[in-house]
Amino acid sequence: MKYPHLSLQRANEPYMAEMKAVAAEVIEGGWYIRGKYVSQLEEQLCRYLGCAHAVATGNGLDALRLMLRAYVEMGVMQPGDEVIVPANTYVASVLAITDNGLVPVFVEPSAQTYNLDTSLVEQAITPRTRAIMVVHLYGWACWDETLKAVAARHGLKVVEDNAQAFGAVSTVAGMHGSFHTGALGHASGQSFYPTKNLGALGDAGAVTTDDPKLAEVVRALGNYGSAVRYVNVYKGVNSRMDDLQAAFLLVKMKYLDAENRRRAEIAHLYTRSIDNEQIITPQAGEPGEHIWHQYVVRCAHRDRLMHYLESQGVGSLIHYPIPPHKQQCYREYNHLHLPLTEQLAREVLSLPMSSYLSDDEVREIASIVNRFA
Ligand SMILES: *Cc1c(COP(=O)(O)O)cnc(C)c1O
Repeated sequence: MKYPHLSLQRANEPYMAEMKAVAAEVIEGGWYIRGKYVSQLEEQLCRYLGCAHAVATGNGLDALRLMLRAYVEMGVMQPGDEVIVPANTYVASVLAITDNGLVPVFVEPSAQTYNLDTSLVEQAITPRTRAIMVVHLYGWACWDETLKAVAARHGLKVVEDNAQAFGAVSTVAGMHGSFHTGALGHASGQSFYPTKNLGALGDAGAVTTDDPKLAEVVRALGNYGSAVRYVNVYKGVNSRMDDLQAAFLLVKMKYLDAENRRRAEIAHLYTRSIDNEQIITPQAGEPGEHIWHQYVVRCAHRDRLMHYLESQGVGSLIHYPIPPHKQQCYREYNHLHLPLTEQLAREVLSLPMSSYLSDDEVREIASIVNRFA
């Protein structure tokens, strides 16, 4: 495959020497979990996002589940309470909700942004609604005045699934003054899975928040439910970050903004170069709002397009082919009909996207797309 959807080897190549050096430091340092590199990363996350607390977790799904679990432990939410979530998200957002006995209420996305349609949120609110989970899908910040006003009017928590958008900046201020996704709402889950814009070399995640109590509970929950050794306040889990991953992330964070700017250039070049009436290219938002975790086109003949691209040496992926409410594990929601979400699942296709792509490579991929008939 000449153009794989993503080569992690190529993506990490510029940082390999630096990462090998810090790996040696960690190995020789003799402290491997929740040590000084993890503390440093938590500080850097707070500084970068403009929030008060960060708690490193084992992965992104755990960040989301422990964030909601903490609200349950704090009595803010109870099993059976409802959380509004975009219907076209990755299943992990929904797993974090149902894992806590909370009930997902699926709301359709906007056909322009593919993010939660904030104008549909208020009509989905019931007496059991406790939170709105926004997902900054494909890297585009989902945040506006409508959302803030609805949450305030109904006293709801706004939690962010920031797995795909670390580094994105909203045009509208968050609830605590920051403009960064991950610090817009009351709490946020980050993923540092290797393919994300800020990717570790293994599993890693973090909860970020301005709420000191929430941070404290998440930290204990990820450590068997214990803040003081051998004293268990909660029935917790083991979800902590390795220092090795934290050290790699500290290296890569320095380059993240430059990488995200390059992704935006690539996205704009794709959009200028793709000229095929069968293909719908994505909207871009304001500068900095979209950090292009994925470059997602739409096509009525998506599966045929995918096979054609493969035959021409271009790897593509579908994010996502089956919406959560149509998954076998969510049989209880299979009867729901969410037409736009289901249409997107049939039409979306993610083209190669990483800051390593050269302009010539992007133009060549675009010209292959243009020859699709
Ligand atoms: C990647 C991802 C997650 C889960 O993160 P992991 O680190 O893989 O557990 C959650 N939500 C969304 C939208 C994601 O893209």
